[in-house]
Amino acid sequence: MRELFDARCAYCGVHEDAVGATLTIDHHRPRTRGGTGDAENLVYACARCNEHKGAYWHEHDLPHVRLLHPGRDDLTHHLRETDDGSVAGLTREGEFFVQRLRLNRPQLVAYRRMRRSEVELNAELAATRRHVEALERKVLDLRSALESAADEIERRLKGS
Ligand SMILES: [Zn+2]
Repeated sequence: MRELFDARCAYCGVHEDAVGATLTIDHHRPRTRGGTGDAENLVYACARCNEHKGAYWHEHDLPHVRLLHPGRDDLTHHLRETDDGSVAGLTREGEFFVQRLRLNRPQLVAYRRMRRSEVELNAELAATRRHVEALERKVLDLRSALESAADEIERRLKGS
């Protein structure tokens, strides 16, 4: 279960390591609404998302909008992460998903920003490493050019 969801909450994306604990198993269709314990009804979820989701089931509860299933629905069609780290719904289901699960709680926005700057820093680090490697190659080339020049001078001095 954990491996299937990459140790992340399938709703908000927070990682176990950031929570400091294993997460919970959510029944997408709540047991009280006829949901089963079948794998396809189970979602690895953080305690807060699980709590916010509650026993909602669109066939019984207002506003009767289906809650997206992270394993079955392609969330990228319904949600968009903005530059400030918040999430916006692109569809009615997406909007409801954000609102029901409170996906813009301040700690999540901060978490997304942190992950984003981590990605940016890693890209910068990789670019810096490539630059250093290029400089090292240049130094080696210059050193061998200098050695050849020194050899040539020595040869000429001996010859004269
Ligand atoms: Zn969550």
